[in-house]
Amino acid sequence: MKLSGGCQCGAVRYAVEGDPQHVALCHCNDCRKSAGAPMVSWAAFAEDEFTLEQGELTTYNSSGTALRSFCPQCGTGIAYRNAEFLPGIVDIQSATLDDPQALPPGAHIQVAERIGWMESQHELVQFARYPGQD
Ligand SMILES: [Zn+2]
Ligand SMILES: [Zn+2]
Repeated sequence: MKLSGGCQCGAVRYAVEGDPQHVALCHCNDCRKSAGAPMVSWAAFAEDEFTLEQGELTTYNSSGTALRSFCPQCGTGIAYRNAEFLPGIVDIQSATLDDPQALPPGAHIQVAERIGWMESQHELVQFARYPGQD
């Protein structure tokens, strides 16, 4: 399976090939701060299954050996590498895939650091767009 993805502005394009080793929603503090979002979905591929096809990534060392790579123009987070804890792996922020439904998560991870209200957010009232609109 080959999947393509990219950042919001379109400068960065990438492809992944093969099956991810795992797909998970991460609730850790570092992912939350990095993304500015309550959690981040990750799909783990072998390094040689990832190809940067267009543009360049800026890489930031967010803690220890953790390297987070993002589009320098629009800031979209694309990849995570950690040579100590995930050798040979590149984790892709799977919500940046052109088809973000392609790789459904199989687990929630780092829930020890999850925002308390995230545990029950799926129970909230839902609107297709906004309240008061069709
Ligand atoms: Zn961009
Ligand atoms: Zn995380």
